[in-house]
Amino acid sequence: MKKVAFYTLGCKLNFSETSTIARGFQDDGYERVDFSDKADMYVINTCSVTENADKRFKTIVKQAQKVNPEAFVAAIGCYAQLKPEELAAVDGVDLVLGASEKFKIADYVNDLTKNEVGQVHSCEITEADFYVGSYAIGDRTRAFLKVQDGCDYKCTYCTIPLARGISRSDTLENVLKNAAEISAKGIKEIVLTGVNIGDYGKGEFGNKKHEHTFLELVQALDRVAGIHRLRISSIEPNLLKNETIDFVAQSGSFVPHFHIPLQSGSDAILKLMKRRYMSALYTDRVGRIKQTMPDACIGVDVIVGFPGETEERFLETYHFLNELDISYLHVFTYSERDNTLAADMDDVVPKNVRSKRSKMLRGLSVKKRRAFYESQLGTTRTVLFEGENKEGYIYGFTENYVKVKAPWNPALVNTLHQIELKEIDIDGSVRFDFVDVSVEILGKILK
Ligand code: SF4
Repeated sequence: MKKVAFYTLGCKLNFSETSTIARGFQDDGYERVDFSDKADMYVINTCSVTENADKRFKTIVKQAQKVNPEAFVAAIGCYAQLKPEELAAVDGVDLVLGASEKFKIADYVNDLTKNEVGQVHSCEITEADFYVGSYAIGDRTRAFLKVQDGCDYKCTYCTIPLARGISRSDTLENVLKNAAEISAKGIKEIVLTGVNIGDYGKGEFGNKKHEHTFLELVQALDRVAGIHRLRISSIEPNLLKNETIDFVAQSGSFVPHFHIPLQSGSDAILKLMKRRYMSALYTDRVGRIKQTMPDACIGVDVIVGFPGETEERFLETYHFLNELDISYLHVFTYSERDNTLAADMDDVVPKNVRSKRSKMLRGLSVKKRRAFYESQLGTTRTVLFEGENKEGYIYGFTENYVKVKAPWNPALVNTLHQIELKEIDIDGSVRFDFVDVSVEILGKILK
């Protein structure tokens, strides 16, 4: 039996697509093995946002070649769509597939031969206007369900529309079918993923119309039996409507956790980024969430070092975030990307200043997360335990995204338990007491 191995870079969307492509190989009789194992075919799902994407890619190709120099190596994903020739020229690469070909990889692998330069089957991104559904089952406890792809926004620093094409969505019927399929496999949490999922419903039937809204998607998924938890991965602030926030607040399955890209707290920078909101709207969204769900967790994406970010504008962002009732930050250091408007902008921020500012915001994130965790001590939450034994401990996340830990026990994997949050441990996760099981039963469970 031929063996295939995958290496995925980037976002949950990439992981869901790798998983779907891998299932295709298994249907064709391949055995899926780890990337560190010997395989006949290595597939690398690339990302164009990752820092030093090119260096990372070359290292991963070398890794595969070291394990099996005879094997074929294929590159798919966003970087493969943006720079196909560059990847094909990398020593050891045999095949590069663009956005419209990646799901048809099985058609190419059988005719592969070893050449100086890899074969390229790419396309203009405008041709990748069709939708392919996918989902990934991570560590047996949660699944990433793709509901939308591409983006019609024009943020001046972003290459994703160039790599993934126009905004388009899965049919509501197919999303619900996938969700039911996933929960039938015993997976207790589904994370909705896409590029701009708040734009869900656009291009559902291959046209530019909105057949459904994101709120209708959320309401329909909320009615699917057997799904314990639904988590919204990331949503643009201007597309997170009050109705959606209010619906999540009363929903039995959607969890009180929102990840909302801000990018900057300075309206001047938001304008330069061509974001579709100003900081006041962001404050309003956070206010509405905390008003309806005081214990909700709010994560924020922010970019530092964007052209034109003076010290004053950076401090505007710092104070804006410091005053906002949010729970943690994902801090990205701005880096120029080819074919983006921002790459040609003046007032470039020196690299050392960018990293100094990044360090400051990451420090703020630690402070925010600790304050949020402290606000949750003494409360009763539901944890979903994950499947990995990490140095003798099992970890899990509460519905509002508090990370908790307990001594490792396989009987707890993929189980939901009511717990009372007790204290923050040195590694920043939270220790707890079980609420829904007595110590005796626990004893039996833990035996
Ligand atoms: S919303 Fe902006 S940042 Fe997000 S994918 Fe679209 S263009 Fe990129």
